[in-house]
Amino acid sequence: MDTAVVWFRDDLRVTDNPTLADAVNQATKVLPIYVYDPRRYGQTQYGTQKIGGFRAQFRHESLSDLRNSLQDLGGDLFVRSGHVEDVIPKLVREVDADAVFAQTKPATEELEREHLVRESLPSDVSLKRRWTHTLYHINDLPEEYHNINDTFTPWRKTVEQQSSVRDSIPAPKVVNTPRIDSGDLQSPTELDIEPQKIDNRTVLEFTGGETAAKRRLDKYFWEGDHLREYKQTRNGMLGANYSSKFSPWLAAGCISPRWIHGEIEKYENQRVSNEDTYWLVFELLWRDFFQFQFVKHGADFFMPGGIRNVDKPWKQDKQQFTQWKNGETGIPFIDANMRELNQTGYMSNRGRQNVASFLVDGLQIDWRWGAAYFEEQLVDYDVASNWGNWAYQAGVGNDSRDNYFNVLTQAERYDSDAEHIKTWIPELSELPAEYAHRPWDMTKEQQVTHNIELGIDYPRPMIDLEERYRSI
Ligand SMILES: Cc1cc2nc3c(=O)[nH]c(=O)nc-3n(C[C@H](O)[C@H](O)[C@H](O)COP(=O)(O)OP(=O)(O)OC[C@H]3O[C@@H](n4cnc5c(N)ncnc54)[C@H](O)[C@@H]3O)c2cc1C
Repeated sequence: MDTAVVWFRDDLRVTDNPTLADAVNQATKVLPIYVYDPRRYGQTQYGTQKIGGFRAQFRHESLSDLRNSLQDLGGDLFVRSGHVEDVIPKLVREVDADAVFAQTKPATEELEREHLVRESLPSDVSLKRRWTHTLYHINDLPEEYHNINDTFTPWRKTVEQQSSVRDSIPAPKVVNTPRIDSGDLQSPTELDIEPQKIDNRTVLEFTGGETAAKRRLDKYFWEGDHLREYKQTRNGMLGANYSSKFSPWLAAGCISPRWIHGEIEKYENQRVSNEDTYWLVFELLWRDFFQFQFVKHGADFFMPGGIRNVDKPWKQDKQQFTQWKNGETGIPFIDANMRELNQTGYMSNRGRQNVASFLVDGLQIDWRWGAAYFEEQLVDYDVASNWGNWAYQAGVGNDSRDNYFNVLTQAERYDSDAEHIKTWIPELSELPAEYAHRPWDMTKEQQVTHNIELGIDYPRPMIDLEERYRSI
């Protein structure tokens, strides 16, 4: 083949990128392209933004890093704006390409775009799709995707027993690109996305790109030696190292789960192999699970009743939703986590489970509103991980048990000295932990002693949670 176009999507890396590797192996010249498609920006049907400032900045940095990596290999990253089904065929004609190589993703909008591109290509140019973003390859699953189990544990056991992880692929040695105008990268502001300044209380400065992803892994595994205690610490909420923080890089495809898997094996051979080192693989399997569930159930994941068509009377209370969104519920554990999300684009897994449960079980508000808000804010937003976890939490997804999180006892267990609460709600920082968790328990006199007035300095609780839990 003389020339191939490589359409980069959520696979912004050169190492272990089968799309790029196959194109380079099969064609003399490749044209790596990223398209700013306006449909990826702007408003959702819920009035939220499809992508907020944190993720837009992260993606911008990731693209810049990818461009540098491709330039180091002798090539470049070309960028254009417009609908993919217009831009890509135009480029194909411009460089007289023989094929287009692209990552395929299971979500509905992504699949729709792939089909549009395929239909708009000249008849002698094929779209060669590659599955590149999970630990296990879709073709290596023991069962056809439409038969896979909807419950995580049996699915995981079958996969672990009957399949194996493929080796990752090295970056190409040379990328030979045609000589055309490469185009300028677009900053978030140029895309009309309001940049967000990251608060210095952030758990980690998330810099986009494959280089930063590998640096993070180096620090977490090799320099900090944290993998040996991963399972014991991953329910933490403060600091860089209680969990891997790989999620933003995995979501943008700056790093592949297979490559991480290879590093875990190396760590297990060179340092220690224990339950904690395995647990990171276990979490990557959760990620895989939702990706494959999306292939199986598709658009049902966005329905109010989810993949099981559960009939629940969701409320559409805008005022209560806004209080939740802004971290003004009067329940400190929820507010601290929501403020962290709003000011950094990140929230711990423990926090996510609790704020989601508060919205859907406590307030009984439409879970899709919460999922859409996360879609806007999260630096690590991934369609399957986000909507899959939200549906799960709302009791309409992959768990038929109706489990709610008791936010008050969760707070006392996972933030026992209220350090996370006090970090994100400084108005409560002078209180003993007991009252930082339950400020409403303070008498008027105690409020005076602690120099805080409920309803003025910090909101009163918007609902009586204990009463609500008694009625579930
Ligand atoms: C309501 C809700 C929404 C979520 N939305 C997202 C999202 O949009 N994007 C996202 O990547 N994760 C999402 N998660 C899953 C999880 O909270 C994050 O992956 C994790 O907190 C990221 O931090 P980490 O990389 O340090 O995770 P670690 O604990 O170090 O885990 C390692 C990796 O495993 C994967 N992983 C771990 N837990 C899960 C899980 N429950 N589901 C899917 N993958 C998982 C992630 O890729 C993560 O980076 C959501 C969870 C909930 C409860």
